[in-house]
Amino acid sequence: MFHTFARSADLRVCRIVAACLLAAATSLSAPPPKTLASDPDILPGPGVTAIRKLSSYLPSLSNTPGDTFVYFLEGKQPGGTVFVAGGTHANEIAGVMAATVLIEHAKVEKGRLIVVAHANNSAATYPDPTREVSSSYTIQTASGERHFRYGARLTKPEDQGAKDPARFRNPKSTESLAGFEARNLDRAYPGRSKGNLTERIAWAILQVLKKESVNVAFDFHESPPDSRLANMIVAHPRSIDIAALAILDLDAAGVGMRLERSSETFRGLSHREWGDATKAHAFLFETPHPGMVKKTAGVDMVSDPKLPLSRRVGLQLSSFLAVLETYDGVAAPGLSVKVQDVPGLPQLVESGLGSFLK
Ligand SMILES: [Zn+2]
Repeated sequence: MFHTFARSADLRVCRIVAACLLAAATSLSAPPPKTLASDPDILPGPGVTAIRKLSSYLPSLSNTPGDTFVYFLEGKQPGGTVFVAGGTHANEIAGVMAATVLIEHAKVEKGRLIVVAHANNSAATYPDPTREVSSSYTIQTASGERHFRYGARLTKPEDQGAKDPARFRNPKSTESLAGFEARNLDRAYPGRSKGNLTERIAWAILQVLKKESVNVAFDFHESPPDSRLANMIVAHPRSIDIAALAILDLDAAGVGMRLERSSETFRGLSHREWGDATKAHAFLFETPHPGMVKKTAGVDMVSDPKLPLSRRVGLQLSSFLAVLETYDGVAAPGLSVKVQDVPGLPQLVESGLGSFLK
């Protein structure tokens, strides 16, 4: 009892001294730097060295639902730059969580890692209206229960600033799609700086790739479990060899991913337009999502017995590590990137997703 009282008395004295010192320092110099703001559902980890907003690449996104946080993890040694987008489709939660694990757990030894976990932040703000799904899900972590947003595939209609057209066609594409696809970030690239919200998000993300001289860019997605796309790495033609070698390494480690090349005619997708408009090697991953089915009643998005979220995040991050390692083998001198503390499929299956979140 006495010890507890003595400790709390000591603590009070310490707090008073600290407050006085802080007040003195504040009166002598500029105000102390504010704690960096971040996404409400993300706790930046020890590897994060700076946080910016997407609006710093396109000011008209400021104070709109399309603005989102951009996390920088910079190593002590100079090297290349890697970009990761999760949440292009906000219902594809393995992509969001894989990006979140990078922000909360990864450290960079050499080069830079830039991560956006909610690439389409407007889509993250409302649950998919076409499916019976909850707007959030819960993960148990060392800091307790954490709640994450389960969003929609498309920009929220009220945020778009334009009505959906009768039919949508990306200016570079020969294919016309349903009008609502105008709100699909992964059909909007390269985007337009003065377009609707989805086009502006796309344009701003492309500016990140250009202004930060990104060498390798990833877009993390999910697809229905029975889709042709499930367990797929889609690669820009210029980067197909890197993806093929990575898939051989993944196969040797018992992780089955397949390879597809970006289409020449189906345009507006990240891997195709990022690779065409910048020097980056561009890749998109698809993991099988048990909730992307017609009847979602009773489907557990997090703890599905066959496709639990931890396994899907493991597939994303094992693929990320394999591609990065292959890139590193062919990278020009000075453009190598070394990222540490990224768990792959075996670690996520064994310890669970919560072990790699704060
Ligand atoms: Zn997707």
